[in-house]
Amino acid sequence: MMGKVVSAYLKKNVKMAAEILKKGGLVVFPTETVYGLGANALDPQAVSKIFDVKKRPRFDPLIVHLARVEEAKKYVTQWPPLAEKLSQAFWPGPLTLVLYKNQIIPSIVTAGLPTVALRVPSHPIARSLLEEAGVPIAAPSANPFGFLSPTQTKHVAETIGKKVDLVLEAGPTPLGLESTVISLIERKPKILRLGSLSLEEIKKLFPEVEIAESEQIVSPGQLRKHYATHTPLKIFRGQAVKEKNAALLAFSEKPKTSVFKEIKILSPKKDLKEAAANFFSFLYELDQKNYQAIYVEPVPEEGLGRAIMDRIKRASYEERE
Ligand code: AMP
Ligand code: MG
Repeated sequence: MMGKVVSAYLKKNVKMAAEILKKGGLVVFPTETVYGLGANALDPQAVSKIFDVKKRPRFDPLIVHLARVEEAKKYVTQWPPLAEKLSQAFWPGPLTLVLYKNQIIPSIVTAGLPTVALRVPSHPIARSLLEEAGVPIAAPSANPFGFLSPTQTKHVAETIGKKVDLVLEAGPTPLGLESTVISLIERKPKILRLGSLSLEEIKKLFPEVEIAESEQIVSPGQLRKHYATHTPLKIFRGQAVKEKNAALLAFSEKPKTSVFKEIKILSPKKDLKEAAANFFSFLYELDQKNYQAIYVEPVPEEGLGRAIMDRIKRASYEERE
C-alpha cells in the first residue's frame, strides 16, 4: 500500500497534510528543488521516522524549512550580518544556511550538532503547507538514503511511498537539484554543498563566500557515494564501451557514432538550467530499464553545471576507470 497521493492544488489536501504533520505524521511535499519527506521539526518522534523511512544514518542532519524569512531568528543563537544579507538576497529560494541552533530545535534534527540548517522554500505549495502547519518542517529529499533525489511523485511511489502518510502531488519540481548549503559558523562563509543556487549568483553579491575544502576534492576515492543509480554509472569521455546493452545520458547532442541502445539529451539548447531540471528524472528513467551500464557525459563546469557534475561524480566514482 502506497501512502495516499493527492493533488497539492486543492486547498483541502494541503490542510489535510498540515493536520498529519501536526499529529506527528510524514508528508511528501514539493519544493522548488526536489520533493521533500517532511515531519514537524519540533517533534522528535516524528523526525525519528524520517531517518527510519529513508534508512538515513542518524549522524546526517536534516534541513529545517520555514514559512518566512523572519522566523529563522527564532531558532538560532546568532544571526550574523551575512545571514541577514544572504537571506534578504536569496530567500525564499534554494539556499540553506547553517547557523548555531538554540534549544528549541531538538537534537535529533541536527544529528547532535550545535548547528542547524535552515531554508525558506519558494514553492507555493511548500509555503502554504508551512503556513497551514504553523510549525517548522524538517525535510530531507524524499528518497532512500544514497539514491537519486525525487523530482516527481512517481519516483517516490517506487521507493518510500508506502511508508508515508500522504504524498502531495504537484508535478515535476521546477529546479530539480537540491538547495545550495552555506555554513555561517566559521569566520569565513563556506559552501558545504553546491546546488540549485549557483556559485556565480552567490559570488556576484557575496564575493567572500568560498567552496569548503572537502567540496573541492574531486578525486574519486575521497568522495562519498551518493545520488546513486542501481545500474552502474560511468562518466563518458569517449572511451570504448564494453557493455552490449548500455545507455547514454548526453548533455546537448548525440555522439556522431555510438553503440548505445538509448540516448537521452539533458538540454538540446545547451541550457544548464534545463539540464539540471531534467537530470534526476532522466537518470530515474534509464535506471528503470535494466541496462548493464549508464554512461553520463560531463557537462560544462560553470553555473549549475558545477552542481550537476558534483552529482555525476558522486554517483559514479566506484565505477570510474
Ligand atoms: P538533503 O536534505 O538530504 O538533501 O541533505 C541535507 C544536507 O544539508 C546534507 O548535505 C546535510 O549534511 C546538510 N546539513 C544539514 N544540517 C547541517 C548542519 N547542521 N551542518 C552542516 N550541514 C548540514
Ligand atoms: Mg538527499
